[in-house]
Amino acid sequence: MLIFLESIIWVLRFFFGACIASFLNVAVCRLPKGESVVSGRSHCTVCGRILKPWELIPCISYLALRGKCAGCKTHIPARDFITEIIGGAAFTACAVRYGCGTFGILSLKGTVILIYLGILMVVALIDWDTQIIYDRFHIMILILAMINMWLFQAHSLKDCLLGAVIIAGPMLILALLIPGAFGGGDIKLMAASGLFLGTASIVCAMFFGLLTGGAYGSIMLKSGKLGRKDQFAFGPFLAVGLAVAAFYGDQIVSWYLRFF
Ligand SMILES: [Zn+2]
Repeated sequence: MLIFLESIIWVLRFFFGACIASFLNVAVCRLPKGESVVSGRSHCTVCGRILKPWELIPCISYLALRGKCAGCKTHIPARDFITEIIGGAAFTACAVRYGCGTFGILSLKGTVILIYLGILMVVALIDWDTQIIYDRFHIMILILAMINMWLFQAHSLKDCLLGAVIIAGPMLILALLIPGAFGGGDIKLMAASGLFLGTASIVCAMFFGLLTGGAYGSIMLKSGKLGRKDQFAFGPFLAVGLAVAAFYGDQIVSWYLRFF
């Protein structure tokens, strides 16, 4: 019986995370158009039909509707479904990694990391669509870094300040020397995130960002979908690296340093 109840709580946690991602998806669609994120009911962007409550259930409604709008039968982007799954997985991962407190509610540290992951998701998707990272997200990460330092003291102030410049500094120099090497939004993202994650984790994040971004770039180049001079959004790949580092950055770096 206890195992059954525990399983239900884990399913609820997953769906809570998926709901948050579903809301963030709305923000990703509306922010670049200058529309309000909180007001206005959820609707089909093609036929304008207001969605029924059951159509707002993340993951399930997409499967039930077979990925099409119930009114105009337009395909709902699979990306919406995938981001909801990622949101559910992120919430579950925060609960596993940082534990849950009273009534099974996510711990404070887990909540801070989850908010950070939410910001990264919005940054990555908007950057993918528009190649812009809004300054408001850098400011949100800076505020989160202050809260993190004040509440948890996981890293010293010196380590966090070094984290803010150790990757962003060389990126800025490269961008000044080679125009278009890195966007200003990417550099600010790494500076704010360095303050949040600390030195070791931000280096780890950059490693994974370059690895995934480099892999994507070479696949696109080989398949002829991108030319040598074409640019693509690097923010989503930095976000992948930052998400990995937010969970296990310090551990990955300590493991790596054992070989020296
Ligand atoms: Zn429709």
